[in-house]
Amino acid sequence: MEKICVAVRVRPPVSLETSGGVFWKVEDNRVSLHRQHDTPVSGTSYAFDHVFEETCSNARVYELLTKDIIHAAVEGFNGTVFAYGQTSSGKTFTMNGSADNPGVISLGVKDIFDAIQMMSNREFLVRVSYMEIYNEEINDLLAVENQKLQIHESLEHGVFVAGLREEIVNSAEQVLKLIESGEVNRHFGETNMNVRSSRSHTIFRMVIESKGKDNDSSSTDAIRVSVLNLVDLAGSERIAKTGADGVRLKEGKHINKSLMALGNVINKLSDGVKQRGHIPYRDSKLTRILQPALGGNAKTSIICTIAPEEDHIEETKGTLQFASRAKRITNCVQVNEILTDAALLKRQKLEIEELRRKLQGSHAGVLEQEILKLRNDMLKREKLQLELEEERRSRKERDQCVREQQMRLQNHNSLVTSSGGNGSHSEEQNSKRQSFCEECSDSNGICQGGAFRTPCSKAAPNAFVVKRSNYSRLPEYSPLPDTFSNVADEDTWLKMNKGYIADLDSLQMTPATKVQSFPLNDGTPGCSNENYRDVQKLKRQLENVTEEKNEFQRKYSEEKILNARLTGEISELRQEVLVIREIPRRLYESVVSSKDFYEDLLCSMKSFAADGESSTAKKLVSISEIGSSLFSTLETNFLMAMDGDKSFSNNDSLVREQCKVFCEKLKSTISALILSEKAPIDNKQGKNSPCSCNNKVVCASSLWLFLTYNISFRNEALTHLVLIAVKGCAQEEESTCWKEKLSSELNTIKEKYHGLEKDLDLNNKFLETSKEMYDSLEREFRLLQEERDSLLNKVSESSQTLTMVTDQKENVLKDYNTEVEKKKNLEEEIKQFSAAFACRQKSLVSFHSDLKSKIEKLRAQNPVSVPKSRG
Ligand code: ADP
Ligand code: MG
Repeated sequence: MEKICVAVRVRPPVSLETSGGVFWKVEDNRVSLHRQHDTPVSGTSYAFDHVFEETCSNARVYELLTKDIIHAAVEGFNGTVFAYGQTSSGKTFTMNGSADNPGVISLGVKDIFDAIQMMSNREFLVRVSYMEIYNEEINDLLAVENQKLQIHESLEHGVFVAGLREEIVNSAEQVLKLIESGEVNRHFGETNMNVRSSRSHTIFRMVIESKGKDNDSSSTDAIRVSVLNLVDLAGSERIAKTGADGVRLKEGKHINKSLMALGNVINKLSDGVKQRGHIPYRDSKLTRILQPALGGNAKTSIICTIAPEEDHIEETKGTLQFASRAKRITNCVQVNEILTDAALLKRQKLEIEELRRKLQGSHAGVLEQEILKLRNDMLKREKLQLELEEERRSRKERDQCVREQQMRLQNHNSLVTSSGGNGSHSEEQNSKRQSFCEECSDSNGICQGGAFRTPCSKAAPNAFVVKRSNYSRLPEYSPLPDTFSNVADEDTWLKMNKGYIADLDSLQMTPATKVQSFPLNDGTPGCSNENYRDVQKLKRQLENVTEEKNEFQRKYSEEKILNARLTGEISELRQEVLVIREIPRRLYESVVSSKDFYEDLLCSMKSFAADGESSTAKKLVSISEIGSSLFSTLETNFLMAMDGDKSFSNNDSLVREQCKVFCEKLKSTISALILSEKAPIDNKQGKNSPCSCNNKVVCASSLWLFLTYNISFRNEALTHLVLIAVKGCAQEEESTCWKEKLSSELNTIKEKYHGLEKDLDLNNKFLETSKEMYDSLEREFRLLQEERDSLLNKVSESSQTLTMVTDQKENVLKDYNTEVEKKKNLEEEIKQFSAAFACRQKSLVSFHSDLKSKIEKLRAQNPVSVPKSRG
């Protein structure tokens, strides 16, 4: 276990003016806030591994904080160095530096190649990549066309970015040129605080693979692979200060969001191994990529940069608190050594050679038995290895089974959530990468060392490298919870700086992973390595299955929420349907009351046309017939609608037809009335009964009233007009003046009639649309019901699969335990074997010396009879 190395670097002040208030004071490895008269402010003193003051150069920062990691990377340890701090505090300056003050990255690159040159007994292959995380998307800085890259995880490669260009390099100059070309593609922008503010996190990555040279007798053929990350983070932003808006604001939000995720991971890791629980690495791409560097297998340094100005005190305190928490994190570091089958074989051959050498010159006949015994031991050992091989094969089959299960689960999940996961992989691009490991495993360890491309040997790299193509197809899971949609605001910014831990646990984004180390057992190198690898594999499988299970549980709960929402919506729709179902009843009631009024009106009109023979009376009769048939049709239709009769909607045309007939007849009646009224005026006979003339008027007025009633005119209007008509009947002598009045009245009636016709049309349309609406709502309702049923089915299927997965997990767990047990037994056996072997070796040596002394004795006794050559 190794603690993360944390240092603080103070940037020189922007202007020489001092505000005269408080200031940050650096003493040895301590930084604290002081008042004007040099009195410290309590609770603001922080100690770190190193504290660099304003005048400190990048070279010194590199020397004290990064150099060791760089050298360890050459020796096979993973390493990560990153700069953290508020915007404009000097992160990019520290990592990239300037022409006269080279940064950590260029110093590190030069040092790596120097170290490689010093290690003459090993051959190296170095690959570099350069990426940025901009607005939560991974872009390749060495190949602009590689945008929005995906993070994947596989048993073989761990967490990796698929499709990222990796360039094989053999000199520092080549690397620095690549970085320069990558810098051009990096996102920068101007804010109030920094004219060249980094708007993305950049990760410069070097993969260093090495193996012992073939002519080196001490070489074991083991291949070391280490990954070195040099990270320049974008700075946390206080929108009020940077004055960001538009694109800058969006960038700022993403930057703060991922830094918050990083802070959460650091907070969790600083809790100590026992209290850690779930570490939310998957909440951002940054934390996912840096996962091995945070609490995993990597040597890590963090350079926290701070601004000395008084108006940045809050931000500086936030950075120092982050640094304090990071200081508590421990990583589990080990050399990444891959022991190939070839390496194992070589070890065994060496052992046999050694024994042969020991036996040479000894009395062969006497020692034959010993050799046989040793051979038997060797056979035993081979048998053990075969057993192990068998074991490995069966484990592989199990792996395959688990993987198939996972695929099935993924398919199922994608079906359930209908989320269009982007499963695109870029293996073709990956295949361009090259590695020692595969070369050695593919060619059974027969490496052509001369072809290695190292700083001292410039031969073509393609001679020994093979394509890497079997990257995992596991998809990446959502890294960002929606709960952090607006972290750029002031309030959240403050929380972030004060070490606020968002409750990400409840989201269950990633499963808990225990950090556990399996140290290599030097006494039993071959078998324990195999077992170690197998156990590691099983462990990863278990983690994957747990991860799947958690993901599945999360989706299940999401589905439950969706189901509840749908049920709510369905009940709302039901309410609406009830209201809509009420409409026909209400319409029916209004039809009944209209009918009553219509009948009353007709009665009163008939009383005016008392003779029953006049054309008016006849027309009234026909109107009454039309009206009653219309009303009865309306009544039956609405009754059918109330009863939920399906044919109701089909009868709509019938109603409309009735309405049309009714309107036509009304029209003809009114025009006949007008004509019959005009005739007496034209011939000036005036002999017609004033009563009949007035009856016509009353009739027309009544019709108008009937129609106006339908658009909510009141009964008072009717009474008023009827009274006028009655008065007219009494005053015959005023008929002429009445006629004029009535003709104008008739004109108004005509206009109103036309208006009413339009209203009727509108009402009909309204009726039609509400019917359509009703139908569509019914359809929707049915669809929702179906959807709910299918969801219920899916939920039950999901719970079945969940139980299945849980069972499988338990089985894997059982297998894992058996494997561990077996591993222990094997180790025990191997120990016994080694002890027996050592014992036999000892007896062999003593036998040999006994024999020698006996021969010497015999020679001394009989110097002539024993030939010298036999000694
Ligand atoms: P960040 O990357 O944290 O946003 P920069 O590295 O871009 O900030 O620094 C902002 C400005 O401050 C740059 O002009 C840089 O040259 C200057 N600067 C930062 N740190 C130092 C330092 N230690 N010495 C001199 N200048 C510095
Ligand atoms: Mg920067």
